Amino acid sequence: DTLLDIADLTVTYPTRTPRPALDGVSLSVAAGECVAVVGRSGSGKSTLVKATLGLTTPGAAVTASTLSIGGTDTRALRPRDWNRLRGRHVGLVLQDALVSLDPLRTIGCEITEPLRTHRVIPREQRDAEVAALLGRVHLPHLTGRLHHYPHQLSGGERQRVLIASALAARPQLIIADEPTTALDVTAQAGILDLLRELRTHGHGILLITHDLAVVDTVADRVLVLHDGAVVEHGNTREVLHHP
Ligand code: ADP
Ligand code: ADP
Repeated sequence: DTLLDIADLTVTYPTRTPRPALDGVSLSVAAGECVAVVGRSGSGKSTLVKATLGLTTPGAAVTASTLSIGGTDTRALRPRDWNRLRGRHVGLVLQDALVSLDPLRTIGCEITEPLRTHRVIPREQRDAEVAALLGRVHLPHLTGRLHHYPHQLSGGERQRVLIASALAARPQLIIADEPTTALDVTAQAGILDLLRELRTHGHGILLITHDLAVVDTVADRVLVLHDGAVVEHGNTREVLHHP
């Protein structure tokens, strides 16, 4: 099952002529697989995430011979179909949950919002589903704290709530953009364990990171981006430990 399939993706920003920000990038993520994209600042990582999610800056030229999520060709999607596709088929986990989570929304609301929007399950099953989601991210003790706000949680807990919310609509593909960067070492290890578990449960993960230790711990394959082009691509072991 290929969850994400990208071939020959080129993105050119109008203000950055003539060199494209991404130049002929190809990658795929299958169910049960974690694929990492690494590269220095400015190498094109955010552009890749944005193009994958149909969120490239207006005016940018995006071309690809294949661009699909869960088998849906996204190259000509209308905005409302994009919203539906992103909501149901992609779980997005960003760097800092304190920024990603709405500070005025309780964590209960945060987790149930995708359940309501996408009607994944009947209303009367919501409470049980929230408890199950909190269990999956190893926060069962938060079941009694659904009225709390993000700032009342520790950094690691917030990042887990963000993951629970990303999982709520039951997407198979998870895009994690620097998911551990804002965390202390202990919380980082917990999130990495969680990503490994998600992979075991059949999710496909596209992991964007600058941290090679993170790649080494969770990624099956790794792509190295440099100046918008893939300069290396292979099994994590081969790419990171080659002589
Ligand atoms: P990374 O996420 O790896 O730091 P980016 O994808 O943000 O890299 O940037 C890739 C290149 O594209 C950089 O040269 C950056 O300056 C340029 N860039 C990114 N966003 C825009 C934009 N909206 N308009 C013009 N140039 C941009
Ligand atoms: P960490 O060990 O990650 O540094 P903290 O010391 O921030 O975590 O928090 C320890 C526990 O106290 C966590 O379970 C957290 O949810 C809880 N906690 C922290 N701040 C608050 C708060 N303002 N209100 C309620 N609970 C809190």
